[in-house]
Amino acid sequence: MLEPPIRGFTGADVPSDSIYNQCIRCGLCLPSCPTYLETLTETSGPRGRISLIKAVGEGHLDLLSPGFVHQMSECLDCRACEAVCPSGVQYGQLVETARTQISRAQAPRSKAFLYFFRNLGAMRAVAGLLRFYQRSGMQALVRASGILRLFGLSEIEAMAPQISSRFFLPADQRFDTARAQVTAFMHAGCIMSVAFADVNDATIRMLRRSGCNVVVPSGQGCCGAITVHAGEMEQGRQLAKRNIEAFEKSGADVYVINAAGCGSTLKEYAEMFAADPQWAPRAKSFSAKVRDITELLDELGIPKPTRSTDRVVTYQEPCHLAHAQRISAAPRRLLAQIPGLRLVEMHESSVCCGSAGIYNLTQPEMAQRLQSRKIENVGATGAEVVVTANPGCELQLRAGLRSNGNSVECKHIVTILDEAYES
Ligand code: SF4
Ligand code: SF4
Repeated sequence: MLEPPIRGFTGADVPSDSIYNQCIRCGLCLPSCPTYLETLTETSGPRGRISLIKAVGEGHLDLLSPGFVHQMSECLDCRACEAVCPSGVQYGQLVETARTQISRAQAPRSKAFLYFFRNLGAMRAVAGLLRFYQRSGMQALVRASGILRLFGLSEIEAMAPQISSRFFLPADQRFDTARAQVTAFMHAGCIMSVAFADVNDATIRMLRRSGCNVVVPSGQGCCGAITVHAGEMEQGRQLAKRNIEAFEKSGADVYVINAAGCGSTLKEYAEMFAADPQWAPRAKSFSAKVRDITELLDELGIPKPTRSTDRVVTYQEPCHLAHAQRISAAPRRLLAQIPGLRLVEMHESSVCCGSAGIYNLTQPEMAQRLQSRKIENVGATGAEVVVTANPGCELQLRAGLRSNGNSVECKHIVTILDEAYES
């Protein structure tokens, strides 16, 4: 039996008509939209997607019509359109609430992976197994056997992060620094803590060099970015509450994050709780104290690096740093302080690399097209190292470079900064 069409948005988390009606249909956002650049199709661009959201909001289009569901999923939520919009359309709010509406109306479908973001203990247990697989020799055997290709798992397996030899677990660590003026709460992250433990260690060293005390409270958890982007706003709020409480208890001055995608969500807790009178003031005060690591190091200043390099570097801008947080100059200013480093700008540095949370799983074809576009742009710079500031981008770039047989290294910006000091 055919389901009756669903007209309009309902309940909480509704795409706001005051936002979609702000769109003046000028099209200035189109050249910034990665999916529009790839398809040159109106509905695959921000203006088309806003029209679709408006059509559903006004009851002219079914919420679960395949075209609408597809466009809400094909959008990367990269916010490039939002950053250039002369009319100030907050596109991120529209797409995230539209996804929440779709997710609520659809027959429950498995989003089992979200369990791991709620339960970091389980995520760490799986990461431990993955580490065994990667380091015991089993991975080489499985890859050589061809079994991954047989089951169509080669690409997913290649995207899995290289698990750190030691996890970075938040356990109420405290690192005091002489004459510190600022105490920084360090967000250890979910993927960062199991696959980028070395970046977290380097982050602590850089914060201390810049004159901060650093605390890593155990009460923190996942920021909720993947959950919110998957349309599970209520679950995202539960995760957010844990971080707000941990930060309030810590007494720290700032909440520091070295993953751009997480930082953008942490800064949006204020909006996520805007309709909740009890949590709204706490969320607002929390979000005001969140800083991306590059933003804070740039603000506090870093001491003169003691090591020089002769490497040519290019910078890949994470969407959620450049567009959602509007931080573009700080990372470049920090890189410019490393003696000898030559920064070569790549074409389309701020166009999404196709990572975007779980986009590789939901839209594998578009993810691959954007990855290839990015790797071509990296290659054209002649750089030896591509630097970024988000784990998702780093994994996507590394996988793309590897599959192209490209020897360009990919590093987190904190790593390359940390390497510029003897101690
Ligand atoms: S730039 Fe802004 S106002 Fe113009 S079409 Fe895009 S979203 Fe609409
Ligand atoms: S968020 Fe990114 S992918 Fe989505 S419409 Fe805007 S520019 Fe395009």
